[in-house]
Amino acid sequence: MSKVAHYLQEHLLGEVMTSADARRYFATDGSIFSVMPSLIVYPRNENDVRKTARFAWQLAERGRVIPITARGSGTDQSGAALGSGIILAFPAHMNRIVELDPKNGVVIVEPGLNYGRLQQTLHTHERFLPPYPASYEYSTLGGAVANNSAGEKSVKYGATRGYVKSLRVVLANGEVIETFRLGKRELSKKLGLSTFEGEIYRALDALLDENRELLDKLDLAVTKNAAGYALADIKRPDGSFDLTPLFVGSQGTLGVVTEITLETEDYNPTKELFLAEFDSLEQAEKAVLGLRDLPHLPSAMEMVDGQLLELVDRLNPNLLKGIVSKPFPKVALLVEFDDAERLRKKLVKKADKILRECAAHVSHEHEPAAQDRLWKLRHAAASVIGHSEGQLKAVPIIDDGIVPPAKLSEFITKVYQLFAHEQLQVAIWGHAGDGNIHLQPFLDLSQIGDRQKAYRLLDEYYKLIISLGGSTSGQSGDGRLRAPYLSNLYGSEVYGLFSKVKQLFDPYGTLNPGVKVGVALDDIKPLTRSDYSLAHLYDHMPRS
Ligand SMILES: Cc1cc2nc3c(=O)[nH]c(=O)nc-3n(C[C@H](O)[C@H](O)[C@H](O)COP(=O)(O)OP(=O)(O)OC[C@H]3O[C@@H](n4cnc5c(N)ncnc54)[C@H](O)[C@@H]3O)c2cc1C
Repeated sequence: MSKVAHYLQEHLLGEVMTSADARRYFATDGSIFSVMPSLIVYPRNENDVRKTARFAWQLAERGRVIPITARGSGTDQSGAALGSGIILAFPAHMNRIVELDPKNGVVIVEPGLNYGRLQQTLHTHERFLPPYPASYEYSTLGGAVANNSAGEKSVKYGATRGYVKSLRVVLANGEVIETFRLGKRELSKKLGLSTFEGEIYRALDALLDENRELLDKLDLAVTKNAAGYALADIKRPDGSFDLTPLFVGSQGTLGVVTEITLETEDYNPTKELFLAEFDSLEQAEKAVLGLRDLPHLPSAMEMVDGQLLELVDRLNPNLLKGIVSKPFPKVALLVEFDDAERLRKKLVKKADKILRECAAHVSHEHEPAAQDRLWKLRHAAASVIGHSEGQLKAVPIIDDGIVPPAKLSEFITKVYQLFAHEQLQVAIWGHAGDGNIHLQPFLDLSQIGDRQKAYRLLDEYYKLIISLGGSTSGQSGDGRLRAPYLSNLYGSEVYGLFSKVKQLFDPYGTLNPGVKVGVALDDIKPLTRSDYSLAHLYDHMPRS
């Protein structure tokens, strides 16, 4: 065991592991990359996190940088949950609901708490946390906050950032801070602190004031955005100041979150669900735009394309039985309303009219069992993610792009052209109401030709999104994969501002380096693993 591991083991309550097995397990996440960590820490409490950060800071002051990567369940598909130094694995022990106030809908949790477990608990109190990612049964709240995750309900409810009220965060030097919206007087107290926290407040306040006009460039014409650092909502015109929106979505590159206070919504289990089948992308887009114009947005507007239906029909024909039949539509769209009864009835009537004007076939269910059956159509996308044909696997390299909803059909048409050019099949699914789609080409990353194809596709795809006025990351974060495109997305001045923010919070580069800023394509290509799989999701850690 190294000296570093030894020191940590003596000073922390949680376990420290350096075994080849444990390191191998944490060397992959849900991305196509692999980075071998030097050791794993399973913190038992905030003090363990604080001591680890403090130790890394002191070593860095003496010229030895050991990266710290916070980790939830490692489902991240951008390579953000990987690091070459210390992995802080939160699900092992820091996985509790600390406090739940069902009356006000506020819940305080530790970052390693499983999202699905929280959701179950909230449901029993008729509440829910709406921006849950599709991976919520495996992933953690810490990961959702760090990625500003979003999901099928985000078209109406938005992304995670909107639900985080306050955070406890361990800074790079081991100081612990609490973030929430500060009034002018509270801010001036922070500005006067002689600590690292005070330094951050002073420098960030000045940086935001000096770069006010640049902040407008962060406001892309998309409905959700997880690319870069969210600098726009820190300082409001009323003089209030909050670091919370910045930490949300920062992927562990500015601080390590140890406690999260979340707001939740009323949960209405009674819903109405439409299935609409379209003969063309243009008609599907017209329906989406019509539905977006309703006085209240649907709680979901999710699509799968005809090619996904063909693939699922080939792999698992029973899944589609009684839901859609051949010849499959170009697009199938699920539209859900979860409003209270009176409003729901009104909206359903209007939605029915919009859908019937555009779709070739429309059906409508209000029984939960029948709705579950229809949802299978959308969740069939999982068949693609888990499928392999020989050495060919569905790889997450060009996922998560988002465009303005009015560009949806142009976007998908150009994606089809891109794939045809590379002689690849493509199946598309995702959040049509947000213009945010998923697709994973089948490639064999052990073959040089397919690797080259992957990086060609990556380049063309993200350039296409930027040319359509979209964002390279709608909901899962830049990580390593999309980080090389951040400067193209926002321009070099905004990118320069991101770099200054990173430098301010993390002067020695100990916090998840190689993620979000300062990343070039040449940095990530050598990290590509030839044996992509989600095998790491099988559990492997101590638990309390
Ligand atoms: C099949 C599949 C479907 C997915 N669907 C979605 C989706 O619908 N929407 C979506 O947004 N994402 C999706 N994802 C991506 C990912 O699952 C989510 O972003 C999820 O919220 C990550 O949670 P996690 O616990 O796995 O975090 P990890 O992967 O462990 O970490 C994610 C990031 O959070 C940071 N982090 C974790 N804990 C902390 C902490 N305590 N402090 C600071 N930083 C921390 C990590 O350093 C890393 O940068 C999907 C992934 C898969 C494999």
